[in-house]
Amino acid sequence: MTVIVVSNRVARTKSDEPVAGGLAAALIPMVKDSGAIWVGSSGQTAESGHDNDSFAKIEALGTGALATVDMPGRHYRGFYEGFANSALWPALHSRSDLIHVTADDYASYREVNAFMARALQRFTGPTAVFWVQDYHFLPLGEEMRRLKIGRPIGFFLHTPWSDRRTIAAVPHHADLVRAMLSYDLIGFQTDEDRQNFEDYLQFELGMSVIGSTVTSAAGLTHLATFPIGIDVDEFTARATKASTRAEVTRLRASLQGTKLVLGVDRLDYSKGLCNRIRAFDQLLETEPQLKRNVSFLQVAVPTRGNIRAYRDLKAELSALVGEVNGRHGEVDWIPIRYLNKSFSQLTLAGFYRAAHVGLVTPLHDGMNLVAKEYVAAQNPFDPGVLVLSSFAGAAKELDAALLVNPNDVDGVARQIAAALTMSLEERRERWHIMVGRLRAHSVQNWFADFLRALDDTRRTPARLAASRPAKSPVLVDFANRAARY
Ligand code: UDP
Repeated sequence: MTVIVVSNRVARTKSDEPVAGGLAAALIPMVKDSGAIWVGSSGQTAESGHDNDSFAKIEALGTGALATVDMPGRHYRGFYEGFANSALWPALHSRSDLIHVTADDYASYREVNAFMARALQRFTGPTAVFWVQDYHFLPLGEEMRRLKIGRPIGFFLHTPWSDRRTIAAVPHHADLVRAMLSYDLIGFQTDEDRQNFEDYLQFELGMSVIGSTVTSAAGLTHLATFPIGIDVDEFTARATKASTRAEVTRLRASLQGTKLVLGVDRLDYSKGLCNRIRAFDQLLETEPQLKRNVSFLQVAVPTRGNIRAYRDLKAELSALVGEVNGRHGEVDWIPIRYLNKSFSQLTLAGFYRAAHVGLVTPLHDGMNLVAKEYVAAQNPFDPGVLVLSSFAGAAKELDAALLVNPNDVDGVARQIAAALTMSLEERRERWHIMVGRLRAHSVQNWFADFLRALDDTRRTPARLAASRPAKSPVLVDFANRAARY
């Protein structure tokens, strides 16, 4: 099997650089170790308006390869900032009120999907299996079938799939979901997401799902749940290694024996950051003895800054942090350390271990790998406490965390207080349960389970005639070196 992974952006591996999000964090080690070919945008656009028919760059990534392509300049913005991140992202995260999209954005979204399908044609060798990632490419499978690519194509959604009425707020939702049924396998983070998708098919499209399989004009599509995970041992090792890093040492020294609450997120409205600041404010109001004895470090990495909802959030959050610090701060003490920058995963692991409380309170999140990384990075003999939103996919496995409703600011404040005073015995007990679950759902299992399920779909009747041969000798060479499962 030659695995071709497709995502909007690809990522490289330098261990000293931050990764751009959960998708990249999971795929980098998997592509490195499996020999897969990872295809995505080069980060550049080609302005000519013609298809850029040649890959900008092919480079090795461990035993695998990265193949990057210049995206069509005329359509990239409408595709990425427009339809993908101003219609699909808000709806998938239950924020249909933030949908702002034009007909041109949708046209661009479809154009980029069609472009990527053409770019993938050269990989359709006899052993190719395609694995498309995330909401940027909902209709890519349909475009590939249109080009008579007959190899198995799977799709994994890293975000939630929200309830059917919220999805129905997206313009062209029915066309998009019908297009998704060209995939042989659609994977979700949680059973709840998969159930929402099934409800959509049943109530919005009048289709029946029988035994997790749906039959459409395009053939059979299997629906399944594959919770994404992390490499626990890798994070544990990083946490130990990071203890001597300058930023980690400085952070620990600055605490002077007081306790640290830590949040690490992209600066996204789905992450519940404003409520989190309000909860910390509330904690200091109701437990004034904690002043000077606890501080809160929030790493908030700027993201999608060209989109208004993100700029508005950044302004709101800065004002809120300033207001809370102004009210509770002293000449020699600041309650909230608020940073708009990113750190490498190695440094983050050191921060996680230094923190007595990991505060992860998204309003809605596909999985949330930060929650998992926080648990994996703890000292087993003296672990910190995870306070986790029950609306993160991770809460399904990490139910031994202190689960909170992120909209209940008082409740979050109370659980932070409970975390700060939890006995060592209870902390260890909860941590052991959680780390066991993380091992059972590792990123390696996620990768292998999905591909096994995709391979199994080949036992169902083929949809189309044999795939077209690969065109490029260079890429055939990469394909020949690719993973076998
Ligand atoms: N991350 C990082 N540096 C930072 C902040 C985050 O490398 O400064 C990584 C983090 O380790 C995690 C990923 O970015 O692996 C975030 O994934 P998550 O699923 O929590 O959220 P997403 O950004 O995908 O919504």
